[in-house]
Amino acid sequence: MSNICPVCKSTQLKTEIKVKDYFLTAEEFELVLCESCGVLFTWPQPTLEKIGRYYDSQEYFSHGGKTKGIVPAMYNGIKKINIQTKFKQVTKDLEKGSLLDIGCGIGDFLAFAKSCGWNVRGLEPNEQAREVVAEKHEIFAEDVSAINKLSDNSFNLITMFHVLEHVHDLDALLIEIIRILKPGGRLVVALPNNLSWDAKQYKMYWAGYDVPRHLYHFNPESFAALINKFPLQKDKIVPMKWDAYYVSLLSEKYSKHNLPLLRAGINGFISNLKARRTGNYSSLMYFYNKTNK
Ligand SMILES: [Zn+2]
Repeated sequence: MSNICPVCKSTQLKTEIKVKDYFLTAEEFELVLCESCGVLFTWPQPTLEKIGRYYDSQEYFSHGGKTKGIVPAMYNGIKKINIQTKFKQVTKDLEKGSLLDIGCGIGDFLAFAKSCGWNVRGLEPNEQAREVVAEKHEIFAEDVSAINKLSDNSFNLITMFHVLEHVHDLDALLIEIIRILKPGGRLVVALPNNLSWDAKQYKMYWAGYDVPRHLYHFNPESFAALINKFPLQKDKIVPMKWDAYYVSLLSEKYSKHNLPLLRAGINGFISNLKARRTGNYSSLMYFYNKTNK
């Protein structure tokens, strides 16, 4: 087991649960809880050099673009509506400006933002995905390491949809984000919530763990412990209600239950209902503003 928390450096750690990589390798990992800041992290964490093979699947990047089956088909259908909804939510109360999407995938969100008059740029570690962004959308996307070359105070809005939980060096990335964000600019981070009802329901089968690709597993409290170290002011937290259904469906697949669609529908609905009181939706979008200091 690890002996130090990667977020707060505490040594008060305990192994919560063992989880398998149901998506690809069937290898087993531990989820270690920091009793000081509440962050849960995957252990061992494959290094940046070695993690590539855990992403070695077409399905992971296309999210159904070319694959068959009911999950990708449903995902694609709802994806379009989802992108428009997401765009409205993240740009609410903002003037048109410059947007950076970190982990932009094949760039569908950026393309929609561009069609609405925003100046857009993407960062994406997967080379094949970057090629799609360039060819399909004529948008410039670079590797995530290119963030170092972006100018200070140059973006009104930076988005990361289900990306930060994949990042090895959280502090280094957040420092760069704050540098390139304009004073008063907005940062939106979407993350799975390990305190959601569906996470508790599915336990080791919960698709939101997605080990070892997800290195960290946040919730409102543990994410605040990370973000509070930076000059960012919390604005609001917005639920992503569709994720309760999508994550439940994947979790049903991993747990090999009968009637997965029906069960996922019921569990997604219950998760959203319970979260109305607790705020612990399956996934959450955290909104922050860069302070003017
Ligand atoms: Zn900690």
